[in-house]
Parts: sequence; structure tokens; C-alpha cells
Amino acid sequence: MTKHLKVPKKDAQRYISRMRSADGIDNNYQIQKGDDFVLIPLKQDITGQEKMPGSEVVDVEGLQSKIKFLPKEAGGAFDLIGEIAITKIREEERAIELARSLILTHPNIKAVYLDRGITGKYRLRDLKLLSGSEIYLTKYRENGIMFQIDVSKVYFSPRLATERMLVAKEVMDGETVIDLFAGVGPFALNIAKERDANIIAIDSNPYAIELLHKNVANNNLRGKITSYCADSAEKIVEFSGVDRIIMNLPHEAFSFVTAAKKTLKTGGIINYYEILNVQELEDRMETFRDMGFELRAKRVVHGYSKTQNMYSLALRKLRE
Ligand code: SAM
Repeated sequence: MTKHLKVPKKDAQRYISRMRSADGIDNNYQIQKGDDFVLIPLKQDITGQEKMPGSEVVDVEGLQSKIKFLPKEAGGAFDLIGEIAITKIREEERAIELARSLILTHPNIKAVYLDRGITGKYRLRDLKLLSGSEIYLTKYRENGIMFQIDVSKVYFSPRLATERMLVAKEVMDGETVIDLFAGVGPFALNIAKERDANIIAIDSNPYAIELLHKNVANNNLRGKITSYCADSAEKIVEFSGVDRIIMNLPHEAFSFVTAAKKTLKTGGIINYYEILNVQELEDRMETFRDMGFELRAKRVVHGYSKTQNMYSLALRKLRE
């Protein structure tokens, strides 16, 4: 017997989304549907805790999940952005099998796409529908912030959620921050949620800026976000003496570092992201030292290939 939360069918989607955000669902078991109720397998017994109205904890036989790849345990098998799952599995049969099982067993997943690569200046995914309905616009919750994301028109990766939270916590109230490649604003909003900071968000993709505006309007933020649809290299020269610059354009950010350094105050921080192997990382850090930066922190955000990781470097400007 396994503990399940029994909820009315009409409200099931809302419960599932909420529990998924709180990482409360035991993915080893399937969500089961009755005539007018849904049973959600629980990671922990929440019998004594306050529950949403109309729900109760029940002991039932758990149905083993047929899915081998689950969001947390997947080891990169797919990313979940709201109601949309995106996989990079290259073997088509395996990808379709995964997609079909996801749609069957996860009522909150409406579409599963194959990501055939990221292209163009807006870093858009080339997506092929594997299973479900062809929807692209979805709502996604990260660190208590609600985002609207159109996965066909903007770049977004949920794999940076923890990194964005870590950066947000490093920011002090009163800082002026430039988010140089802001997308729909996940760094900007994580910071503005956490801190009373002044954030300048720049992106050249008009759809990203449109969604960023909506995301700012839909969340309760402490900080202020001003956004610009512009090329970062052209826009950044209009600012000076800023406390922090976030540079999340992993394959190209290095070419913007000289301009960013001019805009940064001495003592200011660049949060820099790049995909590198170990030797390239050593070389990059040496270059940054030669340019007048001190390395304050270094972490692996996520693996990228057998030899490469996406690294996060916090660089402090020591001199002009
Ligand atoms: N920071 C966002 C995030 O964490 O989801 C988006 C990062 S995405 C890797 C890079 C973004 O940079 C894209 O939204 C793209 O449109 C934007 N971009 C690329 N080149 C740019 C440029 N020269 N000026 C402004 N934005 C640019």
C-alpha cells in the first residue's frame, strides 16, 4: 500500500501542478484516475498536515510507473517547462516511447517535443512534436515566480533554476544590475523577487521582451526591472558604474566581456556563463586574471557533454 492524495477530478490539474512545484509527487508510481477523483502518489505521508479542501490521504495499491525517465531522476532525459516536456534523446523510437508514456501517465504534460538543436541569434530550439497537442505557450513556476514562456519563440532552460536563485541571493538591496541576455527575464525576476534592486534587462528578441513585460506584471516583485529590446553590445555603452552584470549567452558571452567591464564599476561583479572543458576553463580563468578580474566563485551549473560543463564564474573587477 502507498500513500496517495485523493483529489476531486475537476481540480486535479491544479493539485498536480502545485505538488510538482513542491516536489511532493512520488514518480515511482503512476497518477491514477477514478470516475470523479484522481489519486496522486505522495513522496511523504502528509496525513497530519493541512491539506487543500476536498482532498484526503488514502492508502491504495500503487501502480508502478512505466516511465524509466522521470524529471528528477532522468539524468537529462527531458526538461519540463510547465505543461511542455522537451527531450534531446536522439534515437527516435526511444524518444517516441518516452513521449507517449509521459502523455499517458502525467496528465499535466500536454506536449512532448524533440529538441533538434538550438539555432539563430535568439537561440531558439528546433522542435518536433513527438506526442500530445501542439502547444508552445505555457506557464512555468520557478522559485515562487510565475513565468509565461513560448518555447518556440524564446530561449528558456529550467536547468538554471538553482543557479538563478544563488545569484539572486548574492545581490544586495540597492544594487544596479544589468541582465545582458535576459530572455523572458528569469535572472531579472529571481533577483527582483529576492532583492530591492534596480535591474536593467536587455534582449534583442522582441518576443522575449514582450513575455518579460508580462512576467514582470504577473509577479509581486521587490526590485524594479527596466527592459530594452536591443543589441546588448550597442545598449550597454549607455550605462556606467553598475554593480553587477549577468552574462548568460554561453557560446558567445566572451566577446562582450570588454564592453561589460567598461560599464562595471571597480569592485563590481560579472556573473559569467560558458560551456567549457577543464583545459578551456583553466585558460579562460587565466585570461580573466590578465584582464584585471579576480575569480570570486566557480561552479558547475550542469553537464553539457562528456567533456564539457556549463560553468558559472563570478568575476570581480579589480582595475580599469
Ligand atoms: N538569460 C535567459 C535565461 O536564463 O533563460 C536567456 C539566455 S539565452 C541563452 C540568450 C538570450 O540572449 C536569448 O534570449 C537571445 O535572444 C539573446 N541574445 C543573443 N544575442 C544577443 C545580443 N547580441 N543582444 C541582445 N540579446 C541577445
